[in-house]
Amino acid sequence: MDPFVPKGEPRPLSGQTCGYKPRTATADCGKPAAWHVMWDAQLDNSLTCDEHMNLIQQRWMYADRHPITADCTMPGALWVFVNDKCEVPTSTDSAARRAEMPVEVS
Ligand SMILES: [Zn+2]
Ligand SMILES: [Zn+2]
Repeated sequence: MDPFVPKGEPRPLSGQTCGYKPRTATADCGKPAAWHVMWDAQLDNSLTCDEHMNLIQQRWMYADRHPITADCTMPGALWVFVNDKCEVPTSTDSAARRAEMPVEVS
Protein backbone atom coordinates (compact mmCIF):
# COMPACT_ATOMS: atom_id res chain seq x y z
CA MET A 1 0.00 0.00 0.00
CA ASP A 2 1.16 3.51 -0.72
CA PRO A 3 2.07 5.05 2.63
CA PHE A 4 1.58 8.59 1.36
CA VAL A 5 -1.84 10.10 1.62
CA PRO A 6 -3.43 11.22 -1.65
CA LYS A 7 -3.71 14.97 -1.43
CA GLY A 8 -6.69 16.83 -2.71
CA GLU A 9 -6.91 20.36 -3.93
CA PRO A 10 -6.09 23.11 -1.43
CA ARG A 11 -9.32 23.95 0.35
CA PRO A 12 -10.67 27.42 0.72
CA LEU A 13 -10.82 28.48 4.35
CA SER A 14 -14.08 26.87 5.30
CA GLY A 15 -13.99 26.81 9.06
CA GLN A 16 -12.63 23.91 11.05
CA THR A 17 -14.22 20.90 9.44
CA CYS A 18 -12.75 17.55 8.44
CA GLY A 19 -11.29 17.61 4.94
CA TYR A 20 -11.28 13.85 4.42
CA LYS A 21 -12.75 12.95 1.06
CA PRO A 22 -13.04 9.32 -0.05
CA ARG A 23 -12.27 8.71 -3.69
CA THR A 24 -15.89 7.80 -4.34
CA ALA A 25 -17.39 10.77 -2.47
CA THR A 26 -18.36 14.08 -3.96
CA ALA A 27 -17.91 16.14 -0.80
CA ASP A 28 -15.57 16.42 2.17
CA CYS A 29 -16.45 14.64 5.40
CA GLY A 30 -17.40 18.00 6.92
CA LYS A 31 -17.59 16.91 10.55
CA PRO A 32 -16.07 19.26 13.14
CA ALA A 33 -12.31 18.73 13.03
CA ALA A 34 -10.53 17.38 16.10
CA TRP A 35 -6.97 17.12 14.80
CA HIS A 36 -4.54 19.16 12.76
CA VAL A 37 -2.25 16.87 10.77
CA MET A 38 1.05 17.81 9.13
CA TRP A 39 1.84 15.47 6.26
CA ASP A 40 5.39 16.30 5.34
CA ALA A 41 8.26 18.76 5.29
CA GLN A 42 6.48 20.87 2.68
CA LEU A 43 4.12 21.86 5.49
CA ASP A 44 1.12 20.43 3.72
CA ASN A 45 -1.48 19.96 6.41
CA SER A 46 -5.08 18.93 6.93
CA LEU A 47 -7.87 19.17 9.45
CA THR A 48 -9.53 15.91 10.35
CA CYS A 49 -12.20 14.53 12.68
CA ASP A 50 -11.62 11.81 15.31
CA GLU A 51 -12.96 9.10 13.07
CA HIS A 52 -10.66 9.93 10.19
CA MET A 53 -7.66 10.46 12.50
CA ASN A 54 -8.06 6.78 13.37
CA LEU A 55 -8.10 5.91 9.70
CA ILE A 56 -5.04 8.07 9.04
CA GLN A 57 -3.12 6.35 11.84
CA GLN A 58 -3.91 2.95 10.37
CA ARG A 59 -3.30 3.85 6.79
CA TRP A 60 -0.90 6.76 6.21
CA MET A 61 2.30 8.35 7.36
CA TYR A 62 2.31 11.84 8.76
CA ALA A 63 4.95 14.07 10.24
CA ASP A 64 3.12 15.56 13.21
CA ARG A 65 -0.34 16.22 14.61
CA HIS A 66 -2.00 18.10 17.44
CA PRO A 67 -5.51 18.70 18.79
CA ILE A 68 -7.09 21.55 16.90
CA THR A 69 -7.17 25.03 18.42
CA ALA A 70 -8.65 28.31 17.30
CA ASP A 71 -5.24 29.44 16.05
CA CYS A 72 -4.90 26.49 13.64
CA THR A 73 -6.81 28.18 10.85
CA MET A 74 -5.81 31.76 11.61
CA PRO A 75 -3.97 33.51 8.80
CA GLY A 76 -0.28 33.69 9.68
CA ALA A 77 -0.39 30.92 12.27
CA LEU A 78 2.77 28.86 12.58
CA TRP A 79 3.07 25.19 13.38
CA VAL A 80 5.03 25.05 16.65
CA PHE A 81 6.35 21.51 16.92
CA VAL A 82 7.66 21.74 20.47
CA ASN A 83 4.37 23.02 21.85
CA ASP A 84 2.19 20.69 19.78
CA LYS A 85 -0.08 23.42 18.52
CA CYS A 86 -0.38 26.31 16.09
CA GLU A 87 0.20 29.84 17.25
CA VAL A 88 -0.26 33.19 15.64
CA PRO A 89 2.99 35.02 16.30
CA THR A 90 2.86 38.47 17.80
CA SER A 91 5.10 41.11 16.33
CA THR A 92 7.49 40.93 19.26
CA ASP A 93 8.09 37.20 19.30
CA SER A 94 7.72 36.17 15.69
CA ALA A 95 11.46 35.73 15.24
CA ALA A 96 11.62 33.39 18.20
CA ARG A 97 8.61 31.46 16.97
CA ARG A 98 10.12 31.01 13.56
CA ALA A 99 13.25 29.65 15.18
CA GLU A 100 11.07 26.87 16.54
CA MET A 101 10.14 25.72 13.07
CA PRO A 102 12.60 23.04 12.02
CA VAL A 103 13.76 23.27 8.45
CA GLU A 104 13.40 19.57 7.95
CA VAL A 105 10.96 17.04 9.33
CA SER A 106 12.38 13.57 9.48
ZN1 LIG B 1 -13.90 13.14 8.90
ZN1 LIG C 1 -2.72 23.50 14.19
